[in-house]
Amino acid sequence: MVAAYGGAGSRLAGDEEGKRGVASTEEMRQSYPEPVIGVSADGHPVCDHSIGVLVAFPTTLTGSGDLELLVHPAQVAAWRAFATVMRRMDYVIFDPRTGTAACRNIDDAPFGRTSLHAHLSAIDLNPSANTGGATDQPPELQAALRRIATNRGDAAFRNLTTDRMHWQIDCTRASLATGIDPATITDPPPTTTEDELMMDRATWRRVQEALQRLSPPLYGGQPIDGIPGRNTNAAVRAFERRVGLTQRGVMGPLLDPEAGIWPATREMLFAATVPSP
Ligand SMILES: [Zn+2]
Repeated sequence: MVAAYGGAGSRLAGDEEGKRGVASTEEMRQSYPEPVIGVSADGHPVCDHSIGVLVAFPTTLTGSGDLELLVHPAQVAAWRAFATVMRRMDYVIFDPRTGTAACRNIDDAPFGRTSLHAHLSAIDLNPSANTGGATDQPPELQAALRRIATNRGDAAFRNLTTDRMHWQIDCTRASLATGIDPATITDPPPTTTEDELMMDRATWRRVQEALQRLSPPLYGGQPIDGIPGRNTNAAVRAFERRVGLTQRGVMGPLLDPEAGIWPATREMLFAATVPSP
Protein backbone atom coordinates (compact mmCIF):
# COMPACT_ATOMS: atom_id res chain seq x y z
CA MET A 1 0.00 0.00 0.00
CA VAL A 2 1.28 3.43 -0.91
CA ALA A 3 1.02 5.99 1.84
CA ALA A 4 0.06 9.49 0.81
CA TYR A 5 2.04 12.24 2.37
CA GLY A 6 1.07 15.72 2.99
CA GLY A 7 0.76 18.11 0.17
CA ALA A 8 0.35 20.62 2.90
CA GLY A 9 4.03 20.95 3.69
CA SER A 10 6.00 23.57 1.84
CA ARG A 11 8.43 22.22 -0.72
CA LEU A 12 11.77 23.53 -1.82
CA ALA A 13 11.93 24.76 -5.39
CA GLY A 14 13.12 21.92 -7.56
CA ASP A 15 11.78 19.12 -5.41
CA GLU A 16 10.77 16.07 -7.38
CA GLU A 17 7.00 16.01 -7.73
CA GLY A 18 4.69 13.08 -8.21
CA LYS A 19 6.93 10.44 -6.67
CA ARG A 20 5.65 7.85 -4.25
CA GLY A 21 5.75 9.17 -0.73
CA VAL A 22 7.27 12.54 -1.54
CA ALA A 23 7.41 14.33 1.76
CA SER A 24 8.41 17.91 2.36
CA THR A 25 11.74 18.81 3.86
CA GLU A 26 9.82 20.19 6.87
CA GLU A 27 8.13 16.81 7.40
CA MET A 28 11.53 15.17 7.28
CA ARG A 29 12.88 17.60 9.90
CA GLN A 30 9.96 16.73 12.15
CA SER A 31 10.37 13.00 11.61
CA TYR A 32 14.09 13.13 12.49
CA PRO A 33 14.29 16.08 14.91
CA GLU A 34 17.44 14.85 16.58
CA PRO A 35 20.44 15.31 16.34
CA VAL A 36 19.62 19.03 16.17
CA ILE A 37 19.38 19.76 19.88
CA GLY A 38 19.10 23.51 19.96
CA VAL A 39 19.81 26.88 18.41
CA SER A 40 22.69 29.15 19.32
CA ALA A 41 22.15 32.83 20.24
CA ASP A 42 22.99 33.89 16.68
CA GLY A 43 20.58 31.42 15.10
CA HIS A 44 22.93 28.58 14.19
CA PRO A 45 21.77 25.01 14.85
CA VAL A 46 23.49 23.05 17.62
CA CYS A 47 23.91 19.34 16.83
CA ASP A 48 24.80 16.20 18.73
CA HIS A 49 26.14 13.91 16.03
CA SER A 50 27.27 11.27 18.51
CA ILE A 51 24.01 9.40 17.81
CA GLY A 52 25.07 8.91 14.15
CA VAL A 53 25.89 5.49 12.74
CA LEU A 54 28.70 4.92 10.21
CA VAL A 55 27.70 3.44 6.84
CA ALA A 56 30.28 2.55 4.16
CA PHE A 57 29.90 4.19 0.75
CA PRO A 58 32.00 3.25 -2.31
CA THR A 59 34.83 5.69 -2.93
CA THR A 60 38.18 6.25 -4.58
CA LEU A 61 39.24 8.40 -1.61
CA THR A 62 40.46 5.55 0.62
CA GLY A 63 42.64 2.53 0.09
CA SER A 64 39.86 0.20 1.23
CA GLY A 65 37.35 1.59 -1.28
CA ASP A 66 34.93 2.45 1.53
CA LEU A 67 34.13 5.89 2.88
CA GLU A 68 32.36 5.70 6.24
CA LEU A 69 29.81 8.45 6.69
CA LEU A 70 27.54 9.27 9.62
CA VAL A 71 23.83 8.73 9.03
CA HIS A 72 20.77 8.99 11.26
CA PRO A 73 20.33 5.79 13.31
CA ALA A 74 16.76 5.28 12.05
CA GLN A 75 17.97 5.40 8.42
CA VAL A 76 20.83 2.89 8.46
CA ALA A 77 19.11 0.22 6.33
CA ALA A 78 18.03 2.83 3.80
CA TRP A 79 21.52 4.31 3.40
CA ARG A 80 23.03 0.83 3.17
CA ALA A 81 20.64 0.16 0.28
CA PHE A 82 21.70 3.50 -1.24
CA ALA A 83 25.38 2.50 -1.02
CA THR A 84 24.58 -0.93 -2.49
CA VAL A 85 22.91 0.64 -5.53
CA MET A 86 25.90 2.98 -5.98
CA ARG A 87 28.25 0.01 -5.83
CA ARG A 88 26.21 -2.09 -8.25
CA MET A 89 26.06 0.76 -10.73
CA ASP A 90 29.77 1.62 -10.35
CA TYR A 91 29.27 5.14 -9.04
CA VAL A 92 31.81 6.22 -6.42
CA ILE A 93 32.43 9.22 -4.20
CA PHE A 94 35.58 11.04 -5.37
CA ASP A 95 34.90 14.44 -3.78
CA PRO A 96 35.24 14.48 0.03
CA ARG A 97 32.69 17.31 0.42
CA THR A 98 29.74 15.03 1.22
CA GLY A 99 28.00 17.48 3.53
CA THR A 100 27.22 14.72 6.03
CA ALA A 101 27.35 15.82 9.65
CA ALA A 102 27.35 19.49 8.59
CA CYS A 103 25.50 21.28 11.39
CA ARG A 104 24.14 24.24 9.47
CA ASN A 105 21.14 26.06 8.12
CA ILE A 106 20.03 25.64 4.48
CA ASP A 107 22.20 27.68 2.12
CA ASP A 108 20.36 30.59 0.49
CA ALA A 109 17.24 30.02 2.61
CA PRO A 110 15.63 32.20 5.28
CA PHE A 111 17.83 31.96 8.34
CA GLY A 112 16.78 29.40 10.90
CA ARG A 113 15.77 26.54 8.57
CA THR A 114 18.11 23.69 9.34
CA SER A 115 19.56 21.69 6.48
CA LEU A 116 18.74 17.96 6.49
CA HIS A 117 22.52 17.50 6.55
CA ALA A 118 22.39 18.71 10.15
CA HIS A 119 19.81 15.94 10.79
CA LEU A 120 22.20 13.29 9.33
CA SER A 121 19.52 12.76 6.67
CA ALA A 122 21.21 13.94 3.45
CA ILE A 123 24.35 13.36 1.38
CA ASP A 124 25.93 15.44 -1.38
CA LEU A 125 27.42 13.27 -4.14
CA ASN A 126 30.52 14.79 -5.73
CA PRO A 127 29.61 18.50 -5.71
CA SER A 128 32.49 19.29 -8.09
CA ALA A 129 30.70 17.33 -10.84
CA ASN A 130 27.12 18.10 -9.81
CA THR A 131 26.60 21.82 -9.50
CA GLY A 132 23.96 23.92 -11.20
CA GLY A 133 22.28 21.87 -13.91
CA ALA A 134 25.34 19.66 -14.42
CA THR A 135 25.47 16.08 -13.22
CA ASP A 136 27.77 13.13 -13.78
CA GLN A 137 25.18 10.76 -12.29
CA PRO A 138 23.70 8.66 -15.13
CA PRO A 139 19.87 8.89 -15.34
CA GLU A 140 19.73 5.12 -14.66
CA LEU A 141 21.59 5.62 -11.38
CA GLN A 142 19.31 8.44 -10.27
CA ALA A 143 16.25 6.36 -11.22
CA ALA A 144 17.61 3.36 -9.31
CA LEU A 145 18.30 5.44 -6.20
CA ARG A 146 14.80 6.93 -6.32
CA ARG A 147 13.35 3.43 -6.73
CA ILE A 148 14.60 2.29 -3.30
CA ALA A 149 11.43 1.97 -1.21
CA THR A 150 10.21 0.79 2.16
CA ASN A 151 8.08 -2.30 2.59
CA ARG A 152 5.15 0.13 2.89
CA GLY A 153 5.84 1.32 -0.65
CA ASP A 154 7.25 4.78 0.04
CA ALA A 155 10.28 6.04 -1.88
CA ALA A 156 13.17 6.29 0.57
CA PHE A 157 15.19 9.00 -1.22
CA ARG A 158 15.04 11.80 -3.70
CA ASN A 159 17.45 14.33 -5.10
CA LEU A 160 16.60 17.87 -6.12
CA THR A 161 16.21 18.80 -9.78
CA THR A 162 18.04 22.07 -9.06
CA ASP A 163 20.77 20.42 -7.03
CA ARG A 164 21.38 16.91 -8.31
CA MET A 165 24.19 16.19 -5.87
CA HIS A 166 21.86 16.55 -2.90
CA TRP A 167 20.15 13.30 -1.91
CA GLN A 168 17.89 13.32 1.13
CA ILE A 169 15.70 10.89 2.98
CA ASP A 170 12.14 11.09 1.68
CA CYS A 171 10.04 8.99 4.01
CA THR A 172 9.07 9.16 7.62
CA ARG A 173 10.36 7.12 10.50
CA ALA A 174 7.15 5.07 10.66
CA SER A 175 7.57 4.03 7.05
CA LEU A 176 11.30 3.26 7.43
CA ALA A 177 10.43 1.07 10.42
CA THR A 178 8.67 -1.33 8.00
CA GLY A 179 12.10 -2.03 6.46
CA ILE A 180 13.53 -1.57 2.97
CA ASP A 181 11.94 -3.76 0.28
CA PRO A 182 14.89 -5.76 -1.11
CA ALA A 183 13.17 -6.01 -4.51
CA THR A 184 13.62 -2.25 -4.92
CA ILE A 185 17.43 -2.45 -4.67
CA THR A 186 18.30 -2.53 -8.34
CA ASP A 187 20.62 -4.99 -10.01
CA PRO A 188 22.96 -3.59 -12.63
CA PRO A 189 21.73 -3.90 -16.21
CA PRO A 190 23.08 -7.12 -17.75
CA THR A 191 26.10 -6.25 -19.88
CA THR A 192 27.61 -9.71 -19.94
CA THR A 193 27.39 -11.77 -23.10
CA GLU A 194 26.59 -15.47 -23.22
CA ASP A 195 30.16 -16.14 -24.37
CA GLU A 196 31.58 -14.52 -21.24
CA LEU A 197 29.33 -16.68 -19.07
CA MET A 198 29.93 -20.04 -20.76
CA MET A 199 32.45 -22.31 -19.05
CA ASP A 200 33.82 -25.68 -20.09
CA ARG A 201 34.28 -28.64 -17.73
CA ALA A 202 37.93 -27.76 -17.07
CA THR A 203 36.92 -24.28 -15.89
CA TRP A 204 34.11 -25.72 -13.75
CA ARG A 205 36.63 -28.09 -12.21
CA ARG A 206 38.88 -25.12 -11.43
CA VAL A 207 35.92 -23.29 -9.87
CA GLN A 208 34.98 -26.29 -7.72
CA GLU A 209 38.58 -26.74 -6.59
CA ALA A 210 38.85 -23.04 -5.75
CA LEU A 211 35.62 -23.18 -3.72
CA GLN A 212 37.06 -26.15 -1.83
CA ARG A 213 40.39 -24.40 -1.15
CA LEU A 214 38.79 -21.29 0.36
CA SER A 215 39.23 -20.80 4.06
CA PRO A 216 36.82 -21.83 5.41
CA PRO A 217 35.93 -24.03 2.40
CA LEU A 218 32.56 -23.55 0.74
CA TYR A 219 32.54 -26.82 -1.22
CA GLY A 220 34.03 -29.22 1.31
CA GLY A 221 33.75 -32.94 0.48
CA GLN A 222 31.87 -32.40 -2.79
CA PRO A 223 32.93 -34.17 -6.01
CA ILE A 224 35.21 -32.19 -8.34
CA ASP A 225 33.49 -33.39 -11.50
CA GLY A 226 33.40 -30.26 -13.62
CA ILE A 227 29.61 -30.37 -13.72
CA PRO A 228 27.72 -27.62 -11.92
CA GLY A 229 24.77 -28.60 -9.78
CA ARG A 230 22.90 -27.68 -6.64
CA ASN A 231 25.98 -27.84 -4.36
CA THR A 232 28.15 -25.84 -6.75
CA ASN A 233 25.36 -23.28 -7.06
CA ALA A 234 25.02 -22.95 -3.28
CA ALA A 235 28.80 -22.60 -2.89
CA VAL A 236 29.07 -19.95 -5.61
CA ARG A 237 26.25 -17.97 -4.00
CA ALA A 238 27.89 -18.26 -0.59
CA PHE A 239 31.16 -17.00 -2.05
CA GLU A 240 29.40 -14.04 -3.70
CA ARG A 241 27.74 -13.22 -0.38
CA ARG A 242 31.08 -13.49 1.42
CA VAL A 243 32.83 -11.02 -0.88
CA GLY A 244 29.87 -8.64 -1.18
CA LEU A 245 28.82 -9.38 -4.78
CA THR A 246 25.20 -9.77 -5.82
CA GLN A 247 24.26 -13.43 -5.34
CA ARG A 248 23.81 -14.86 -8.83
CA GLY A 249 25.11 -18.39 -8.44
CA VAL A 250 25.20 -20.63 -11.50
CA MET A 251 23.87 -18.77 -14.52
CA GLY A 252 22.18 -21.15 -16.93
CA PRO A 253 20.74 -24.66 -16.50
CA LEU A 254 22.17 -26.15 -13.30
CA LEU A 255 23.62 -29.35 -14.81
CA ASP A 256 24.84 -27.80 -18.04
CA PRO A 257 28.67 -27.81 -18.30
CA GLU A 258 28.34 -24.79 -20.58
CA ALA A 259 26.56 -22.73 -17.92
CA GLY A 260 28.70 -20.12 -16.20
CA ILE A 261 29.15 -17.81 -13.29
CA TRP A 262 29.38 -14.03 -13.28
CA PRO A 263 32.83 -13.06 -14.68
CA ALA A 264 33.59 -10.82 -11.68
CA THR A 265 32.80 -13.75 -9.37
CA ARG A 266 35.16 -15.99 -11.34
CA GLU A 267 37.96 -13.43 -11.19
CA MET A 268 37.58 -12.83 -7.47
CA LEU A 269 37.36 -16.56 -6.77
CA PHE A 270 40.51 -17.38 -8.71
CA ALA A 271 42.31 -14.38 -7.17
CA ALA A 272 41.28 -15.56 -3.68
CA THR A 273 42.71 -19.05 -4.27
CA VAL A 274 45.98 -18.78 -6.17
CA PRO A 275 47.04 -22.39 -6.82
CA SER A 276 50.14 -23.50 -4.97
CA PRO A 277 53.20 -23.78 -7.29
ZN1 LIG B 1 23.07 18.97 0.26
